[in-house]
Amino acid sequence: MRPFEYLRPTTLAEATDVLAEHGDDALVIAGGTAAVVMMTLGVLRPGTVVDVGRVPELGGSRADGGVLRLGALTTIRSIERDPAIAQTYGLLAEAASQVANVRVRNRATVGGSVCYGEPQTDMPPALIAMGASATLVSSSSTRTVPLADFFEGPYETALEPGELLSEITVPQPEPGSEPGAGTGGCHMKFTIGSPENKPVANASVLVRLDGAGRCVEARIVLGALGPVPVVAVDAAALLDGEVPDAKLIAEVASRAGDAADPADDLRGPVWYKRRIARVLVERALRCALRKAGHEVP
Ligand SMILES: Cc1cc2nc3c(=O)[nH]c(=O)nc-3n(C[C@H](O)[C@H](O)[C@H](O)COP(=O)(O)OP(=O)(O)OC[C@H]3O[C@@H](n4cnc5c(N)ncnc54)[C@H](O)[C@@H]3O)c2cc1C
Repeated sequence: MRPFEYLRPTTLAEATDVLAEHGDDALVIAGGTAAVVMMTLGVLRPGTVVDVGRVPELGGSRADGGVLRLGALTTIRSIERDPAIAQTYGLLAEAASQVANVRVRNRATVGGSVCYGEPQTDMPPALIAMGASATLVSSSSTRTVPLADFFEGPYETALEPGELLSEITVPQPEPGSEPGAGTGGCHMKFTIGSPENKPVANASVLVRLDGAGRCVEARIVLGALGPVPVVAVDAAALLDGEVPDAKLIAEVASRAGDAADPADDLRGPVWYKRRIARVLVERALRCALRKAGHEVP
């Protein structure tokens, strides 16, 4: 490992100043679960490590005016266990509960999970399905990027040198206003125990129904099935205004499989991953519909 300078700022301004000063040679570290592994393997060789774990402005989560604000340092475990998140943003809690194991979830942060940019991770598809955005700050600017536009390739994101992610905001799903109307979300993944123990695919689905069981909103996002999370827009559009039945669900799942952009690798060939994508989307869609109050036999 290349020797590095270790800095631990205690305010956001101090953190962004340090990042501005060191530019490309600085590496932000939060929970360290991915960054330390990559440094140990020599994949990342920073001259300066900026540990933001003690920056108070990056911590805490709160629901505020119809928006959930997750400070970058919010751990995956606290997203999994927060009853308020489970009640209103259940898809996030469900995805969080499927990340690694309790030991990793206790340290890993939501900011790290997103900025890592690994295509196989669980939180990005769930956050994108919920319409989340990231706030990126530097010493001279603050900007907001929808998470759907944040990922640019494997381990590549919209973060510029000198920027860090300070917060993720998630709009509250619209509650059902009529009897029988509801919102449901579901996250599923499929793993085969490959040598690197990463999933073949994951899928996050969010649906909103009106009182007659018609779908008024649907989002389907696939993970591990392309260089970045795949938003299956055409597949979700098939649900618009429809009362989903088994035939339609199968069509949606098939269209979502077509949208996937997987590669041949240790987790299987392309044809196999597309098939897994279809099965996962079908199951996750049925599960989301059930949670929204519409059971499809
Ligand atoms: C054994 C193991 C199993 C895992 N299994 C899963 C799994 O099943 N599902 C899953 O989704 N993930 C899994 N992961 C990945 C895990 O989710 C990530 O390692 C974790 O979320 C990263 O968060 P962190 O806070 O530890 O980030 P760090 O390791 O500190 O940082 C990761 C990257 O993000 C950058 N970064 C961190 N915070 C910020 C910020 N605020 N602003 C800008 N850049 C930042 C760092 O510079 C670094 O490039 C696993 C990891 C391990 C070690």
